[in-house]
Amino acid sequence: SDLKFVDIHEGLNSTMVLLRNNIPKNVTVHYDYGELPKIECFAGKLNQVFLNIINNALNAIKMKPEQGDEHLTVKTRLEADQMVSISIRDTGIGMSDKVKEKIFEPFFTTKDVGEGTGLGLSIVFSIIEKHHGRIVVNSEPGKGAEFIIYLPQNVPIA
Ligand code: ADP
Ligand code: MG
Repeated sequence: SDLKFVDIHEGLNSTMVLLRNNIPKNVTVHYDYGELPKIECFAGKLNQVFLNIINNALNAIKMKPEQGDEHLTVKTRLEADQMVSISIRDTGIGMSDKVKEKIFEPFFTTKDVGEGTGLGLSIVFSIIEKHHGRIVVNSEPGKGAEFIIYLPQNVPIA
């Protein structure tokens, strides 16, 4: 298969390069990178995860009616249980608990017709599942959202 050992930070950085023209002037991007081992993954798939989540975060900020100094924070850590965590946090519109329950369902979107397919996070979920990882979402409406991905350092092959 196309499993290989990669530097997660390289994937995050190249995703940010792809998105740099979509970042409004009032948004500051913060990088809080921990020291990580290389992790075994389907590299292209994992970059798609980063792209979908960061794109959503930037959209959530742009949808905020009152624009101030907004922030996007990308944080990585090696956790005590040897999992690698990748947190993507935004100061966007956030979501209610009711919306939060549905975001990983295929075709679920709160965006206008033509603006969202509702497929991004369902793809994210299945890619993380393939890596035997987990994803956690924290959000407060009006305050922002955080998506935390937990990945093992190796993908166990069934
Ligand atoms: P789409 O972006 O096409 O709507 P996604 O599957 O990527 O589809 O996301 C589904 C829904 O999850 C979005 O429509 C939005 O309601 C919610 N969502 C995702 N990311 C965020 C975020 N960072 N802040 C607030 N809501 C979000
Ligand atoms: Mg999306």
